[in-house]
Amino acid sequence: MPKQDPLFRLHLDIDERVGSIRAGHADWQCAKGCDNCCRQLAGLPHLTGPEWALLRQGLAALPGARLAEIEREVAALAGAPAGPLVCPMLEQASGACPVYLQRPVACRSYGFYVQRDKGLYCGDIEARLAGGGLAEVVWGNHDAIDRRLAAMGEARSLAEWFGEWMGEPGPAR
Ligand code: SF4
Ligand code: SF4
Repeated sequence: MPKQDPLFRLHLDIDERVGSIRAGHADWQCAKGCDNCCRQLAGLPHLTGPEWALLRQGLAALPGARLAEIEREVAALAGAPAGPLVCPMLEQASGACPVYLQRPVACRSYGFYVQRDKGLYCGDIEARLAGGGLAEVVWGNHDAIDRRLAAMGEARSLAEWFGEWMGEPGPAR
C-alpha cells in the first residue's frame, strides 16, 4: 500500500494508539491467544472497498481448500439471524487469524477505541475498567475512525464482497 494511501495512514494511526496504550500496560489483554472478540461478532464484518481489496489479497494467498471453507461459512452466515457469531475467517482450533496482516480496520481498533455512547465493546476490558484498572488510559476515538472510513466509500457486508468476487470470471482466486 502506498504511504499516502488513506487506509495505510489509518492503519498507522491505529498502530500508534495501540502501541502507546500497550506501552503503558505490559499486561494488556489483547494478545495472541485472546480471540474472544473474533468469536462474538455482532454480525458479518462490513468493509469499505480499500479494506476489502487488502483482505482479498490475504484470502487469495490461503490454500484453496481453506478459502473454499471460508466461502461456505460466509454464505451460511449471510442468511443467519443476527449475531453473536464466530468470524468465518477465524482458525477455530488455534484461535489464529489467517488474514491478520490484511484484517479489517474494526479488528485493528477493537479493544483500544471507544465510541461515544457505545461503550468499549470488549467485556474483558470493560470488566477491568470497572475495577478501576484502566482509569488513566487515553482511549482512541472510534467516531474519528468511522469518519475516515466513510470517506473511503460505502461499507458492504463481507458476504456481498465475497459473492461478487466468487462470481468473477476466470482464475479469480
Ligand atoms: S478486545 Fe478483548 S477479546 Fe479481543 S483480544 Fe482484546 S482483550 Fe481479547
Ligand atoms: S478477520 Fe481475523 S481478527 Fe478480524 S474478526 Fe476475523 S479472525 Fe478476528
